[in-house]
Formats: sequence, structure tokens, C-alpha cells
Amino acid sequence: MNRRQLLYGTGIGLVSGAAARAGVKAPSGSDDQARPAALTLVGYQPTSMLHARETHVARARYPVIDIHTHITESSTSINGVDLASERDFHATPDELIPVMDRKNIRTMVNLTGGFGAGLTETLEKYDKSYRDRFYTFTEPCYSRFLEPDYPRIQAETIQQARRDGARGLKILKTLGLYLRENITTGKLVKIDDSRFDPMWDACGQLSMPVAIHISDPIAFFTLTDRFNERYEELNNHPDWSFYGRDFPSNAELIEARNRVMARHPNTRFIVLHVGNFAENLENVSENLDRFPNMTVDTAARIGELGRQPRASRAFFERYQDRILFGTDATPNASNYPQQLFVDQLYDIYYRFLETDDEYFDYAPAKVPPQGRWRIYGINLPESILLKVYHGNAARELRLST
Ligand SMILES: [Zn+2]
Repeated sequence: MNRRQLLYGTGIGLVSGAAARAGVKAPSGSDDQARPAALTLVGYQPTSMLHARETHVARARYPVIDIHTHITESSTSINGVDLASERDFHATPDELIPVMDRKNIRTMVNLTGGFGAGLTETLEKYDKSYRDRFYTFTEPCYSRFLEPDYPRIQAETIQQARRDGARGLKILKTLGLYLRENITTGKLVKIDDSRFDPMWDACGQLSMPVAIHISDPIAFFTLTDRFNERYEELNNHPDWSFYGRDFPSNAELIEARNRVMARHPNTRFIVLHVGNFAENLENVSENLDRFPNMTVDTAARIGELGRQPRASRAFFERYQDRILFGTDATPNASNYPQQLFVDQLYDIYYRFLETDDEYFDYAPAKVPPQGRWRIYGINLPESILLKVYHGNAARELRLST
């Protein structure tokens, strides 16, 4: 029995409140009178007493392309599968641009632009009205998955999206974790299902990068119990757990994704959320070494990168040409503070990349939302910052500047 098990087992510590309410008497002892009121885990918000330097990096060192944002989203989703062409618009350009200007964000890449009429409307409202401030990616039209000619239809839809102005293709974790043989019911469809081969090839032929999100933090694939390091997050969002049922394992998802990258060497893949395995940079490094058509972004994993600052710094040095700046920023996403599009979100990313500050919050929230730890800056040199903030994304998006 380790110390943590011992504490829980004896009702001491954070669970003592629950134990007390359940009628369990605290052991008698001379300290009992002075003991403070019992707390539940959710009410515990300790203030750090550490005297540490606080650097406020209000503007990025170089103009930023945020490769991973969600300005629009499908208006209809059933069992995790986005089905509508129509978009919900989370913010207007007029609401976004002042923040972008303050934070030195040249361009926001809106990954969830959808397809068809909704995509066209998004391109008109953002990309075409504010040149180079917004780029939009298209998404598969899974609503047509049951049509016998779907592989060809999907490839042609990508070609049309390119003609309309879409800059790339976004794959949500829908593929592998939600899309089923009858779209929302039946057996899960695998990431490397051959029905998508024409889609991957079309992206290669059109020089459209594929921003792909598969899997999720490894803790989402383990039981949500007291040993789970993201217990509070999973408790807040129980539907984020992929433990049990018919879900594939994290390893199976990554292997299927790797087979896709191997089979389509002329297609470029931006593997989001630090290669979908930020807790294991060794795994991400191995795959970057294996697949020259793979890059990664940093979105919503600053908490993971920042709690392993020495490994992260080495990772950024070694793969400085393969890492793109991304945040997952979503306007008005108050349920997910680690993604909330506000000035403070960018302050945190810039502080992590540009300073060697220690022990600071990775999200603008009272309680760290993705696990109870804090992060450390990695103080990258200017040459690497320039690539991560701008150069690598400009290359993958085939921009001239
Ligand atoms: Zn995202």
C-alpha cells in the first residue's frame, strides 16, 4: 500500500469530508479540535506560496499562425458524428480581430469549416472578407457515407472545397471513435478503412494538408477512478471517457493512423495535439522519424508539454521544423478553459515558449482543468520561435510569405 492509498484508505486528507458526512468518526487525538473544516476535492483551490518570476508575454515574438482554432462548428451532431453542412458561428471577425491584433496573431486557421453550403458561407464571411487573417479547412461529409459511391463523392467534395478556397482537410476524432457503419450506429469504422483512400490521395494531389485528430489523452482510455490523473476533467465531462465498451485502445488508434500515413506518402499530415500522444514524446519522436510527411501542433497540450520542460525543450530543438503553433482556441468555450479564446490563453502559450518562468498555470482557470499540476517555460531561441510561430505553418499551408 503506497502513501496515497493509505491516505484514502484511512479517510484522511481530501476525502475526510465525505467520510465525516457518511458518519465515520475521525480518530480521536489532540489535533482534532484544531482541524479545519473538511473539503471536497472540487472545492480545493490552493494558492501557490512559491516566489517565482512572473513574465507577462503579451505579444508573441513573431507574427503567429494559430493552426488550430474552432471559429465555426457543425450545427448538428448525432452520437458524436457531425452531420450538418450548416455552421454555428462562435464569433464574428469583428470580435476576433482586436484580440488577434493585441496578441500578434496574423492568422487564425479555423479547422471546422465543414463542407458544402456551410463551408462556402464560412469562406465568404472570414477568409474572403479578411484576407490572410482567416483560413478555413474543410471536413468529410459523413452524412453521405452510406452512398455506394461515397469514396469517389468524398474525393470530389474535397476537390470542390479546394476550388472554393478551403486550405486543408480536418479529421476530428469522429473517425475511429464515433463514425459507425450506419453512420451513428453499428460497428466503428477504422481510421485506415480503404473507403477513405481517395480522400487522402485527393489531399495529396491538391497540396492540402490533413489536420488529423485521433485518440485523446491516454487517461481517457483508463478507468475514471481515484488513480486517474485527469479524474476531475473526466468527472466534469464523463462522455470524454473511451474506457471500455467497443472503443479501440489508444495504441490501436495510433497504429491505424500510422498505416494511413505510410500508405499515402505524398499527403501531408499535421497530427494535432502533439501527435496525439503528448504524454509520450518518445512515441511522437519515433513516428516523426518514421514518417517524413508528418508534422505536429501544440494545441491544448501545453499542460503536457509544460510539465516535462526538459524533454519538451529537447523535442522542440530536434523537431524545430516539424512543430506548428496551435491552441484549439474556441470563442465562448467557457466549459473548456484550456481552449477559451481570450488574451490570457495566448499569454500562457507565449510564456511557455518564450520564458524560463517556473510553476505557472497552463489554462486561464482557478483549478487546472486537465489535471492538477503546473508548468515550466522552455525559453526557446528566436530561430526556433520563428519556425514554430510562423514558418512551419506557412510551409505546410503553401503560403508565399
Ligand atoms: Zn480542436
